[in-house]
Amino acid sequence: MSIWNCPVCGGDAERCARSLVCGKGHTFDYARSGYVNLLPVNRKRTKDPGDNALMVQARRSFLSKDYYKPLSDQLCEVMNRLCPAEGVLLDAGCGEGYYTKNVAEALAASGKPAAVYGVDIAKCAVDAAAKSCKSAEFAVGSIFHLPVSGESCDALMSLFAPYCGGEFQRVLKPKGKMVLVIPGTMHLMGLKEAIYDTPYANEVQNYELEGFVFLGAERVDGEIFLKDPEDIRNLFSMTPYYYKTGREEHRRLEELTELRTQISFEVLQYEKEV
Ligand SMILES: [Zn+2]
Repeated sequence: MSIWNCPVCGGDAERCARSLVCGKGHTFDYARSGYVNLLPVNRKRTKDPGDNALMVQARRSFLSKDYYKPLSDQLCEVMNRLCPAEGVLLDAGCGEGYYTKNVAEALAASGKPAAVYGVDIAKCAVDAAAKSCKSAEFAVGSIFHLPVSGESCDALMSLFAPYCGGEFQRVLKPKGKMVLVIPGTMHLMGLKEAIYDTPYANEVQNYELEGFVFLGAERVDGEIFLKDPEDIRNLFSMTPYYYKTGREEHRRLEELTELRTQISFEVLQYEKEV
């Protein structure tokens, strides 16, 4: 049995051939690549919500070169520590599944295989995830209305995605673990310095979250050197600055042929309060 529930009525859903069906008969089809689309049409604000195909392709290409492998390795270690054997793990906002896949494989390799699930609102990202990662199940869905049964997850991870505290609490079992990855204050400072006249550090975030006990934070710091202009542009398109940048900054970006930049992440760990 999977953790998916019906996004229309919230009832339990079972897989039946190529569809997921709830007790009231709401039916959702599995795509050829293996994911199920659990985003009700009336919850879509646009035809294709979430990251578009170009952004997904840019991120896939960048991540496939393992520039963020130090983060992935640290995340695998943390999930291995927090996720119980035979546990259920949800990646909320999984994108094209780079971290989902690495964590699922790391847990299996360490003898603690988990049932791993990924949800994202962008259909093209989930399609890519389902194609590249056969060790997890994926659904198109909103993390603000997770198509996931209550108290079904032992652990949840959320990387660079919006924080949906109420939903995360709802789907976690009592004392379930939550891992959030956020950019460190100096993340991508080299990229910002190359593009902006007055680059700013990222804001320091408050670790305390209502309904969760803060267990600790681990930093991942490093430096990456990009020698391929396409990698630089792919990296930039993954950042929140991409859409807020003017023509002059885009020109500077286009002219960059190589880039050395700091990377910095914080891996925050929590336990659901009972
Ligand atoms: Zn239903």
